[in-house]
Amino acid sequence: MLRHWLIPLAVAGAAFPNTVFSGTPYLPAPDSGQEYGSATLSTFRVDETGEPLTPAVLQRLVTVEPGTLPVVFSVPHGGSQVIPHTSPRRGLGLADFQTVRDGWTIELATACAAEMEGLLKGRPWLIIAQADRQYVDVNRPPERAYESPNAQAVYRRYHQSVAAACQQVRQRWGSGLLLDLHGQGEFPEAICRGTLNGQTVRLLLDRHGWAALTGKRGLLGYLQRQGYKTLPDCSATTQNREVPHYRGGYIVTTYGSHTDQGLDAVQLEIGIRLREQGRWKETARDLANAIALWLEEFLPTNRH
Ligand SMILES: [Zn+2]
Repeated sequence: MLRHWLIPLAVAGAAFPNTVFSGTPYLPAPDSGQEYGSATLSTFRVDETGEPLTPAVLQRLVTVEPGTLPVVFSVPHGGSQVIPHTSPRRGLGLADFQTVRDGWTIELATACAAEMEGLLKGRPWLIIAQADRQYVDVNRPPERAYESPNAQAVYRRYHQSVAAACQQVRQRWGSGLLLDLHGQGEFPEAICRGTLNGQTVRLLLDRHGWAALTGKRGLLGYLQRQGYKTLPDCSATTQNREVPHYRGGYIVTTYGSHTDQGLDAVQLEIGIRLREQGRWKETARDLANAIALWLEEFLPTNRH
């Protein structure tokens, strides 16, 4: 087959490498985005060497495995690789500046994909930022994500890849699931769900209601039945009130099914106890089972 999944997209800033353009050039801006809508124009610091990344290095800093299932994994904060010829970000003036790594999320997503292949004889898409968050935060809008041309190149490859994966899944299946995988330490035993209180899974809710997320065979509902603590609690009447800090970031906001080109998008914030000391293996297995069950129950039927 032709490897045409990575679709070249016009990029507004390409002709002006020292300028950061606000807004995403890849998909329509989120309509909810009070947190992301501020238009600012910042300038890069000029790196000492200014040497651009080679295509091979760029492919190493954002790894992309095309899938055969209508499921896309995005892993934005697990990376630890240095971006060559690039200074770490300083984050001056940014209220939500973070450089902490979401440990073991790459291992967890990779293991989950392998488990799914065993269960389903198909693979999810796997898009991983291998670059350290010190240099670039792909879960932020462009104007708050990077401070150098090389980090911008990493950011663009990540978003072009997620956009292309969503497009491929939509073309083939009509809809699908985007799981944006993170780690948090605030609720160490829990998995926090982020969908902007349902907005980023609008299509799924229209078709199946909250059962697809919180019911017995729902994505989080299944995990809760396996003994996981989920936030919000799947059995509570306030199940659509997500933890404010984890209710969904830029990726699910940009690629959720409330947009024209997105998928049903869920940010999963995995507690540290469910990742550390090899526990990610068991979590990966249980998550793969949850996804397999979800596909069986809620698989898009209008396959193209
Ligand atoms: Zn994260």
